[in-house]
Amino acid sequence: MKYKFCPECGEMLIEKELGDEGLIPYCNTCKKPYFEKVGQSVLVTVVNECNEVLLLKQNYVSRTNWVLVAGYIKKGETAEETAIREVIEETGQRSDKLRYIKSYYYEKHELLMLGYLMKVEKGDFSKSIEVDELKWFSFDDAILKLRCGSIGEKHLLNCLKYI
Ligand SMILES: [Zn+2]
Repeated sequence: MKYKFCPECGEMLIEKELGDEGLIPYCNTCKKPYFEKVGQSVLVTVVNECNEVLLLKQNYVSRTNWVLVAGYIKKGETAEETAIREVIEETGQRSDKLRYIKSYYYEKHELLMLGYLMKVEKGDFSKSIEVDELKWFSFDDAILKLRCGSIGEKHLLNCLKYI
């Protein structure tokens, strides 16, 4: 998202040359630059002690494809805290065994996704109302259930050597 008005004082922003950054929207009243903003989220591959991968079905997203756990980073939260919170909220699994793998840029939603791998001891499912189904899959089956070419598929493949 590109700012046109100052979010603090409402003034129309001007374009100002800021070193290597080039022309950046700038508020002449507050003397502050406003860099283009992207959202931040986590994407988590959850794997259990039998090397099975946990996938979710969210019918409001897709009725046919399964997805990995994902969620927006809230203000004041670290990416690791978000990953742990989202996995609990969406699946009921609890663990702090997290490994950062790689980040992805999701153009359509202007979203930077930080990809993690989480190892859990298989626990009871408890899901949020946003989740319609939860299931453990073998790695090979999980790859087939994710949408071909999706960021989820790329992330699961990138996690493979750490599983
Ligand atoms: Zn301002």
